[in-house]
Amino acid sequence: MSDQIKPQPGILDIALYEGGKAHVAGVANVVKLSSNENPFGPSDRAKEAFGRTVHSLHRYPVTDHAALRTAIAEVHGLDAARIICGAGSDEIITFLCQAYAGPKDEVVFTEHGFLMYRISSMAVGATPIEVPERERTADVDAILAACSRRTKLVFLANPNNPTGTMVSPAEVARLASSLPPQAILVLDGAYAEYVEGYDGGAALVDQRDNVVMTRTFSKIYGLGGLRIGWGYGPKHIIDVLNRIRGPFNLSTTQLEVAEAAVRDQDHLVRCRTENARMRTWLAGALAELGVPSDTSMANFILARFASREEAEACDAFLNAQGLIVRRVTGYKLPHCLRITIGDESSCRQVAHAVAQFKGVR
Ligand SMILES: *Cc1c(COP(=O)(O)O)cnc(C)c1O
Repeated sequence: MSDQIKPQPGILDIALYEGGKAHVAGVANVVKLSSNENPFGPSDRAKEAFGRTVHSLHRYPVTDHAALRTAIAEVHGLDAARIICGAGSDEIITFLCQAYAGPKDEVVFTEHGFLMYRISSMAVGATPIEVPERERTADVDAILAACSRRTKLVFLANPNNPTGTMVSPAEVARLASSLPPQAILVLDGAYAEYVEGYDGGAALVDQRDNVVMTRTFSKIYGLGGLRIGWGYGPKHIIDVLNRIRGPFNLSTTQLEVAEAAVRDQDHLVRCRTENARMRTWLAGALAELGVPSDTSMANFILARFASREEAEACDAFLNAQGLIVRRVTGYKLPHCLRITIGDESSCRQVAHAVAQFKGVR
Protein backbone atom coordinates (compact mmCIF):
# COMPACT_ATOMS: atom_id res chain seq x y z
CA MET A 1 0.00 0.00 0.00
CA SER A 2 1.41 3.33 -1.02
CA ASP A 3 1.27 6.15 1.48
CA GLN A 4 2.16 8.59 -1.30
CA ILE A 5 -1.02 8.10 -3.31
CA LYS A 6 -3.78 10.12 -1.72
CA PRO A 7 -7.17 11.42 -2.83
CA GLN A 8 -7.99 15.11 -2.67
CA PRO A 9 -8.49 16.53 0.84
CA GLY A 10 -11.94 15.77 2.18
CA ILE A 11 -12.72 12.81 -0.08
CA LEU A 12 -12.06 10.27 2.66
CA ASP A 13 -14.51 12.15 4.92
CA ILE A 14 -17.40 11.35 2.59
CA ALA A 15 -19.73 8.74 4.10
CA LEU A 16 -20.67 6.09 1.53
CA TYR A 17 -24.21 6.44 0.17
CA GLU A 18 -26.24 3.36 0.99
CA GLY A 19 -29.08 2.56 -1.41
CA GLY A 20 -32.36 1.08 -0.21
CA LYS A 21 -32.04 -2.59 0.67
CA ALA A 22 -33.51 -5.01 -1.87
CA HIS A 23 -33.10 -8.39 -0.10
CA VAL A 24 -33.81 -10.03 3.21
CA ALA A 25 -31.76 -13.11 4.06
CA GLY A 26 -33.98 -16.18 3.93
CA VAL A 27 -37.02 -14.43 2.39
CA ALA A 28 -37.67 -15.23 -1.28
CA ASN A 29 -40.45 -12.81 -2.23
CA VAL A 30 -39.84 -9.40 -0.77
CA VAL A 31 -41.84 -6.22 -1.23
CA LYS A 32 -39.31 -3.44 -1.81
CA LEU A 33 -40.55 -0.14 -0.43
CA SER A 34 -37.15 1.36 0.30
CA SER A 35 -36.22 3.41 -2.79
CA ASN A 36 -39.34 5.39 -3.75
CA GLU A 37 -39.76 3.42 -6.94
CA ASN A 38 -42.99 3.46 -8.94
CA PRO A 39 -44.70 0.10 -8.25
CA PHE A 40 -46.30 0.18 -11.72
CA GLY A 41 -43.02 0.67 -13.57
CA PRO A 42 -42.68 2.73 -16.75
CA SER A 43 -45.22 3.37 -19.48
CA ASP A 44 -45.68 0.61 -22.08
CA ARG A 45 -44.56 3.09 -24.72
CA ALA A 46 -41.27 3.55 -22.85
CA LYS A 47 -40.78 -0.23 -22.76
CA GLU A 48 -41.47 -0.50 -26.49
CA ALA A 49 -38.91 2.25 -27.16
CA PHE A 50 -36.40 0.32 -25.06
CA GLY A 51 -36.87 -2.73 -27.31
CA ARG A 52 -36.45 -0.74 -30.52
CA THR A 53 -33.06 0.62 -29.48
CA VAL A 54 -31.56 -2.87 -29.63
CA HIS A 55 -31.11 -2.33 -33.39
CA SER A 56 -28.81 0.68 -33.02
CA LEU A 57 -26.56 -0.30 -30.14
CA HIS A 58 -23.44 -0.17 -32.33
CA ARG A 59 -24.04 3.53 -33.03
CA TYR A 60 -22.87 6.30 -30.74
CA PRO A 61 -25.70 8.34 -29.27
CA VAL A 62 -26.37 11.93 -30.27
CA THR A 63 -24.52 14.48 -28.19
CA ASP A 64 -27.05 17.32 -28.04
CA HIS A 65 -30.08 15.37 -26.74
CA ALA A 66 -32.21 17.56 -29.00
CA ALA A 67 -35.16 15.19 -29.39
CA LEU A 68 -35.48 14.52 -25.66
CA ARG A 69 -35.06 18.20 -24.78
CA THR A 70 -37.74 19.11 -27.33
CA ALA A 71 -40.13 16.52 -25.90
CA ILE A 72 -39.57 17.75 -22.34
CA ALA A 73 -39.97 21.37 -23.46
CA GLU A 74 -43.24 20.63 -25.30
CA VAL A 75 -44.77 18.70 -22.41
CA HIS A 76 -43.80 21.26 -19.76
CA GLY A 77 -43.97 24.45 -21.82
CA LEU A 78 -40.26 25.23 -21.42
CA ASP A 79 -37.42 26.57 -23.55
CA ALA A 80 -35.59 23.50 -24.93
CA ALA A 81 -32.36 25.49 -25.26
CA ARG A 82 -32.18 25.83 -21.47
CA ILE A 83 -32.64 22.12 -20.66
CA ILE A 84 -29.69 19.84 -19.88
CA CYS A 85 -30.01 16.06 -19.60
CA GLY A 86 -27.93 13.78 -17.42
CA ALA A 87 -27.49 10.28 -16.00
CA GLY A 88 -30.12 10.81 -13.34
CA SER A 89 -30.63 14.16 -11.70
CA ASP A 90 -27.67 13.11 -9.55
CA GLU A 91 -25.46 13.95 -12.52
CA ILE A 92 -26.98 17.43 -12.81
CA ILE A 93 -26.30 17.96 -9.09
CA THR A 94 -22.71 16.82 -9.69
CA PHE A 95 -22.29 19.23 -12.64
CA LEU A 96 -23.58 22.13 -10.53
CA CYS A 97 -21.11 21.39 -7.74
CA GLN A 98 -18.20 20.89 -10.17
CA ALA A 99 -18.94 24.12 -12.00
CA TYR A 100 -19.81 26.42 -9.13
CA ALA A 101 -18.27 25.17 -5.88
CA GLY A 102 -14.75 24.40 -4.75
CA PRO A 103 -12.47 24.66 -1.72
CA LYS A 104 -13.44 27.59 0.56
CA ASP A 105 -16.92 27.72 -0.95
CA GLU A 106 -20.03 26.72 0.95
CA VAL A 107 -22.97 24.62 -0.19
CA VAL A 108 -26.14 25.01 1.85
CA PHE A 109 -28.91 22.42 2.32
CA THR A 110 -31.30 21.47 5.09
CA GLU A 111 -31.05 19.12 8.05
CA HIS A 112 -33.18 16.37 6.50
CA GLY A 113 -32.15 17.16 2.91
CA PHE A 114 -31.11 14.63 0.25
CA LEU A 115 -27.73 13.03 1.05
CA MET A 116 -26.33 13.61 -2.44
CA TYR A 117 -26.01 17.36 -1.75
CA ARG A 118 -23.46 16.66 0.97
CA ILE A 119 -21.63 14.02 -1.06
CA SER A 120 -21.41 16.11 -4.24
CA SER A 121 -20.27 19.23 -2.42
CA MET A 122 -17.59 17.36 -0.45
CA ALA A 123 -16.43 15.66 -3.66
CA VAL A 124 -15.38 19.07 -5.03
CA GLY A 125 -13.77 20.19 -1.77
CA ALA A 126 -16.55 22.62 -0.81
CA THR A 127 -17.87 22.94 2.74
CA PRO A 128 -21.36 21.52 3.33
CA ILE A 129 -23.55 23.73 5.54
CA GLU A 130 -26.52 22.01 7.08
CA VAL A 131 -29.47 24.18 8.17
CA PRO A 132 -32.00 23.19 10.86
CA GLU A 133 -35.58 22.55 9.75
CA ARG A 134 -38.74 23.39 11.64
CA GLU A 135 -41.03 20.41 12.26
CA ARG A 136 -39.37 18.47 9.45
CA THR A 137 -39.97 21.30 6.98
CA ALA A 138 -37.35 23.57 5.42
CA ASP A 139 -37.25 27.02 6.98
CA VAL A 140 -36.47 29.80 4.51
CA ASP A 141 -35.31 32.26 7.20
CA ALA A 142 -32.92 29.68 8.65
CA ILE A 143 -31.53 28.96 5.16
CA LEU A 144 -31.00 32.68 4.52
CA ALA A 145 -29.34 33.08 7.91
CA ALA A 146 -26.87 30.31 6.97
CA CYS A 147 -25.83 32.01 3.72
CA SER A 148 -22.66 34.07 3.48
CA ARG A 149 -20.29 35.53 0.93
CA ARG A 150 -18.98 32.00 0.47
CA THR A 151 -22.31 30.40 -0.38
CA LYS A 152 -22.30 29.22 -4.00
CA LEU A 153 -25.20 26.74 -4.06
CA VAL A 154 -28.36 26.27 -2.02
CA PHE A 155 -30.12 22.93 -2.55
CA LEU A 156 -33.79 22.50 -1.69
CA ALA A 157 -35.83 19.43 -2.62
CA ASN A 158 -39.49 20.38 -2.93
CA PRO A 159 -41.23 18.12 -1.97
CA ASN A 160 -38.35 16.92 0.16
CA ASN A 161 -37.10 13.35 0.60
CA PRO A 162 -37.37 11.77 3.20
CA THR A 163 -39.87 14.10 4.91
CA GLY A 164 -42.39 14.47 2.06
CA THR A 165 -43.04 18.06 3.13
CA MET A 166 -43.04 21.14 0.89
CA VAL A 167 -42.23 24.82 1.07
CA SER A 168 -44.85 27.07 -0.59
CA PRO A 169 -44.03 28.65 -3.98
CA ALA A 170 -44.20 32.10 -2.33
CA GLU A 171 -41.58 31.10 0.24
CA VAL A 172 -39.36 29.60 -2.47
CA ALA A 173 -39.63 32.85 -4.46
CA ARG A 174 -38.70 34.82 -1.34
CA LEU A 175 -35.69 32.55 -0.84
CA ALA A 176 -34.54 33.07 -4.44
CA SER A 177 -34.85 36.84 -4.26
CA SER A 178 -33.08 37.13 -0.88
CA LEU A 179 -29.98 35.00 -1.60
CA PRO A 180 -26.56 36.60 -1.77
CA PRO A 181 -25.78 37.63 -5.36
CA GLN A 182 -23.19 34.89 -6.02
CA ALA A 183 -25.46 32.01 -4.90
CA ILE A 184 -27.59 29.71 -7.07
CA LEU A 185 -30.82 28.19 -5.74
CA VAL A 186 -31.24 24.60 -6.94
CA LEU A 187 -34.81 23.33 -6.69
CA ASP A 188 -34.78 19.54 -6.76
CA GLY A 189 -38.10 18.48 -8.23
CA ALA A 190 -37.59 14.71 -8.04
CA TYR A 191 -41.15 14.36 -6.69
CA ALA A 192 -42.74 17.40 -8.38
CA GLU A 193 -44.97 15.26 -10.62
CA TYR A 194 -46.71 13.84 -7.57
CA VAL A 195 -48.09 17.30 -6.77
CA GLU A 196 -50.92 18.00 -9.19
CA GLY A 197 -50.62 21.40 -10.84
CA TYR A 198 -47.11 22.09 -9.50
CA ASP A 199 -44.46 23.16 -12.01
CA GLY A 200 -41.47 22.18 -9.87
CA GLY A 201 -40.30 25.79 -9.87
CA ALA A 202 -40.09 26.16 -13.68
CA ALA A 203 -41.85 29.55 -13.68
CA LEU A 204 -39.42 30.85 -11.06
CA VAL A 205 -36.51 29.68 -13.23
CA ASP A 206 -37.97 31.71 -16.10
CA GLN A 207 -38.33 34.82 -13.93
CA ARG A 208 -34.84 34.83 -12.42
CA ASP A 209 -31.18 34.31 -13.31
CA ASN A 210 -30.19 32.48 -10.10
CA VAL A 211 -32.54 29.48 -10.01
CA VAL A 212 -32.03 25.99 -11.47
CA MET A 213 -34.59 23.16 -11.35
CA THR A 214 -33.64 19.47 -11.48
CA ARG A 215 -36.04 16.68 -12.44
CA THR A 216 -35.82 12.93 -12.82
CA PHE A 217 -37.23 9.96 -14.69
CA SER A 218 -36.43 7.74 -11.68
CA LYS A 219 -39.56 8.33 -9.64
CA ILE A 220 -43.01 8.78 -11.21
CA TYR A 221 -41.75 7.69 -14.65
CA GLY A 222 -40.63 4.39 -13.15
CA LEU A 223 -37.19 4.41 -14.81
CA GLY A 224 -34.77 4.48 -11.87
CA GLY A 225 -32.81 1.59 -13.36
CA LEU A 226 -32.06 3.49 -16.56
CA ARG A 227 -30.59 6.70 -15.01
CA ILE A 228 -32.11 9.75 -16.72
CA GLY A 229 -32.63 13.21 -15.27
CA TRP A 230 -32.62 16.78 -16.45
CA GLY A 231 -32.12 20.34 -15.37
CA TYR A 232 -33.70 23.63 -16.40
CA GLY A 233 -32.04 26.96 -15.77
CA PRO A 234 -30.96 30.34 -17.06
CA LYS A 235 -28.93 30.21 -20.28
CA HIS A 236 -25.72 31.42 -18.60
CA ILE A 237 -25.79 28.44 -16.19
CA ILE A 238 -26.89 25.76 -18.68
CA ASP A 239 -24.07 26.87 -21.03
CA VAL A 240 -21.58 26.39 -18.20
CA LEU A 241 -22.92 22.94 -17.27
CA ASN A 242 -22.74 21.81 -20.90
CA ARG A 243 -19.01 22.51 -20.91
CA ILE A 244 -18.39 19.85 -18.29
CA ARG A 245 -21.02 17.38 -19.47
CA GLY A 246 -19.49 14.42 -21.29
CA PRO A 247 -20.68 14.42 -24.91
CA PHE A 248 -22.05 10.88 -24.62
CA ASN A 249 -23.34 11.03 -21.04
CA LEU A 250 -26.65 9.47 -22.11
CA SER A 251 -27.03 6.36 -24.24
CA THR A 252 -29.43 6.06 -27.16
CA THR A 253 -31.55 3.75 -24.99
CA GLN A 254 -31.77 6.30 -22.17
CA LEU A 255 -32.67 9.08 -24.61
CA GLU A 256 -35.33 7.19 -26.57
CA VAL A 257 -36.97 5.62 -23.55
CA ALA A 258 -37.14 8.95 -21.70
CA GLU A 259 -38.66 10.65 -24.73
CA ALA A 260 -41.38 8.01 -25.02
CA ALA A 261 -41.98 8.19 -21.26
CA VAL A 262 -42.40 11.97 -21.07
CA ARG A 263 -44.81 11.89 -24.00
CA ASP A 264 -47.09 9.45 -22.16
CA GLN A 265 -48.63 11.79 -19.61
CA ASP A 266 -51.71 9.53 -19.27
CA HIS A 267 -49.54 6.92 -17.56
CA LEU A 268 -48.12 9.60 -15.28
CA VAL A 269 -51.59 10.83 -14.27
CA ARG A 270 -52.74 7.27 -13.51
CA CYS A 271 -49.68 6.71 -11.32
CA ARG A 272 -50.16 10.03 -9.51
CA THR A 273 -53.84 9.34 -8.83
CA GLU A 274 -53.21 5.85 -7.50
CA ASN A 275 -50.28 7.07 -5.40
CA ALA A 276 -52.42 9.77 -3.78
CA ARG A 277 -55.21 7.29 -3.06
CA MET A 278 -52.96 4.73 -1.39
CA ARG A 279 -50.86 7.39 0.39
CA THR A 280 -53.98 8.77 2.10
CA TRP A 281 -55.09 5.25 2.95
CA LEU A 282 -51.75 4.12 4.39
CA ALA A 283 -51.14 7.31 6.36
CA GLY A 284 -54.62 6.98 7.86
CA ALA A 285 -54.18 3.30 8.68
CA LEU A 286 -50.84 3.91 10.41
CA ALA A 287 -52.15 6.96 12.29
CA GLU A 288 -54.94 4.79 13.73
CA LEU A 289 -52.24 2.45 15.00
CA GLY A 290 -50.47 5.32 16.76
CA VAL A 291 -47.86 5.87 14.03
CA PRO A 292 -48.27 9.44 12.76
CA SER A 293 -46.71 11.03 9.69
CA ASP A 294 -46.61 14.52 8.21
CA THR A 295 -48.88 15.07 5.20
CA SER A 296 -46.69 13.79 2.38
CA MET A 297 -46.72 15.37 -1.08
CA ALA A 298 -44.58 12.58 -2.58
CA ASN A 299 -44.67 8.79 -3.13
CA PHE A 300 -43.65 7.81 0.37
CA ILE A 301 -44.59 8.60 3.93
CA LEU A 302 -42.29 9.23 6.85
CA ALA A 303 -43.73 7.16 9.68
CA ARG A 304 -42.80 8.44 13.14
CA PHE A 305 -42.32 6.10 16.06
CA ALA A 306 -42.01 6.85 19.76
CA SER A 307 -38.27 6.22 19.78
CA ARG A 308 -35.32 5.04 17.77
CA GLU A 309 -35.66 1.65 19.45
CA GLU A 310 -39.27 1.27 18.37
CA ALA A 311 -38.47 2.29 14.77
CA GLU A 312 -35.63 -0.21 14.70
CA ALA A 313 -37.80 -2.98 16.10
CA CYS A 314 -40.62 -2.27 13.66
CA ASP A 315 -38.14 -2.27 10.78
CA ALA A 316 -36.88 -5.69 11.88
CA PHE A 317 -40.45 -6.96 12.24
CA LEU A 318 -41.38 -5.76 8.73
CA ASN A 319 -38.18 -7.25 7.33
CA ALA A 320 -39.02 -10.65 8.76
CA GLN A 321 -42.28 -10.49 6.77
CA GLY A 322 -40.39 -9.60 3.59
CA LEU A 323 -41.38 -5.94 3.74
CA ILE A 324 -38.39 -3.67 3.12
CA VAL A 325 -38.72 -0.03 4.12
CA ARG A 326 -36.03 2.58 4.69
CA ARG A 327 -34.37 3.53 7.93
CA VAL A 328 -33.45 7.21 7.82
CA THR A 329 -30.90 7.52 10.60
CA GLY A 330 -28.47 9.10 8.11
CA TYR A 331 -31.10 11.81 7.59
CA LYS A 332 -31.12 12.53 11.34
CA LEU A 333 -34.49 10.85 11.73
CA PRO A 334 -33.59 7.73 13.73
CA HIS A 335 -37.12 7.37 15.14
CA CYS A 336 -38.69 7.29 11.66
CA LEU A 337 -39.13 4.84 8.82
CA ARG A 338 -39.63 6.00 5.23
CA ILE A 339 -42.17 3.81 3.50
CA THR A 340 -42.61 4.03 -0.28
CA ILE A 341 -46.23 3.92 -1.44
CA GLY A 342 -46.45 0.62 -3.27
CA ASP A 343 -49.48 -0.88 -4.96
CA GLU A 344 -52.64 -1.54 -2.94
CA SER A 345 -51.61 -5.02 -1.86
CA SER A 346 -48.20 -3.80 -0.61
CA CYS A 347 -49.79 -0.96 1.36
CA ARG A 348 -52.26 -3.37 2.96
CA GLN A 349 -49.42 -5.73 3.88
CA VAL A 350 -47.53 -2.87 5.54
CA ALA A 351 -50.55 -1.73 7.55
CA HIS A 352 -51.28 -5.31 8.60
CA ALA A 353 -47.70 -5.93 9.69
CA VAL A 354 -47.48 -2.66 11.65
CA ALA A 355 -50.76 -3.60 13.38
CA GLN A 356 -49.25 -6.95 14.37
CA PHE A 357 -46.11 -5.19 15.54
CA LYS A 358 -48.16 -2.82 17.66
CA GLY A 359 -50.02 -5.79 19.12
CA VAL A 360 -53.35 -4.76 17.60
CA ARG A 361 -55.39 -7.69 16.11
C1 LIG B 1 -34.61 10.07 -5.93
C2 LIG B 1 -34.16 11.48 -5.80
C3 LIG B 1 -33.47 12.08 -6.84
C4 LIG B 1 -33.31 11.39 -8.14
O1 LIG B 1 -32.08 10.93 -8.37
P1 LIG B 1 -31.76 10.31 -9.81
O2 LIG B 1 -30.30 10.47 -9.89
O3 LIG B 1 -32.47 11.16 -10.81
O4 LIG B 1 -32.24 8.91 -9.81
C5 LIG B 1 -33.05 13.40 -6.70
N1 LIG B 1 -33.33 14.08 -5.59
C6 LIG B 1 -34.04 13.54 -4.59
C7 LIG B 1 -34.37 14.36 -3.40
C8 LIG B 1 -34.44 12.21 -4.66
O5 LIG B 1 -35.12 11.66 -3.65
